[in-house]
Amino acid sequence: MRFRQFGSAGHEVSVVGQGTWKIDGDRRELAVATLRRGLDEGMTHIDTAEMYGDAELLVGEAISGRRDEVFLVSKVLPGNASARGTIEACERSLARLRTDRLDCYLLHWRGRIPLEETIAAFEQLVASGKILAWGVSNFDVADLEEALALAGPGRLACNQVLYNLQERAIEHAVIPWCEQSEMAIVAYSPFGHGDFPDERSPGGRVLASIAEAHQATPRQVALAFLTRQAFAIPKASSLDHAAENARASDVELSESELARIDAAFPRGPKPAALPMI
Ligand code: NAP
Repeated sequence: MRFRQFGSAGHEVSVVGQGTWKIDGDRRELAVATLRRGLDEGMTHIDTAEMYGDAELLVGEAISGRRDEVFLVSKVLPGNASARGTIEACERSLARLRTDRLDCYLLHWRGRIPLEETIAAFEQLVASGKILAWGVSNFDVADLEEALALAGPGRLACNQVLYNLQERAIEHAVIPWCEQSEMAIVAYSPFGHGDFPDERSPGGRVLASIAEAHQATPRQVALAFLTRQAFAIPKASSLDHAAENARASDVELSESELARIDAAFPRGPKPAALPMI
């Protein structure tokens, strides 16, 4: 597994991590075993959220006895992100996760509550040791600039955003802005949330041919492409999928392979609004 500095959070974090949205609470044992297999394979970055139903409970079970290995991220819902609501939401997440701290806590997306309230609560949580760092999710450049102006430099650890081969909008402005501000970019839905290009499409065939040359899989090639600049947090529901995703970090793409992927999945024009799901 490759590790890289996670923005201002002060940690080296696995470039491929584990998502938990829609993790299967009806198959608890398999869900927990999959997360643990992911940890064994080095995917120590685990992403969850208060929004994801039982996911925090399952993560809590999976990391029990292994907390120190994990870079644990959760998110507050915008409707809860008031000065007091953020603290209470964090405490509920900590209880569900059966831990005393989050490595990073994110605002899930921008809502109506003034950003200064959420940021003040995040800083209070840092001061009390309940979170070690904080960041945002689904923020476009204007929102990032506002957050930076309120928080000051070096406070926002990351921006978690939609990024996969079929949705490269963040490459226009969000990635350059975050790189300049030393914020980590976390790619959510790196496989397109269940819409991964297969060999019936020209792009899928390009991925398959590059994968063959590396004795890898098309999904590993996709993750290798995305993790050049971002951390990726694919969600998996089986031990084999978890292991496959972790091993993507061994794949090193050549300049010509990167160019072929770039041509097969063009970035497209900059959209008016940041895409999100
Ligand atoms: P995703 O990771 O792009 O795709 C998940 C799909 O890929 C599932 O159907 C999964 O199937 C399949 N898959 C995973 N590994 C595979 C493998 N090796 N071989 C074949 N299929 C594989 O979708 P996502 O869950 O939307 O995104 C990932 C995470 O990002 C979420 O879980 C969540 O933590 C985060 N997220 C954040 C936001 C936000 O607003 N901040 C929004 C969306 C997502 P199986 O389940 O059968 O393995």
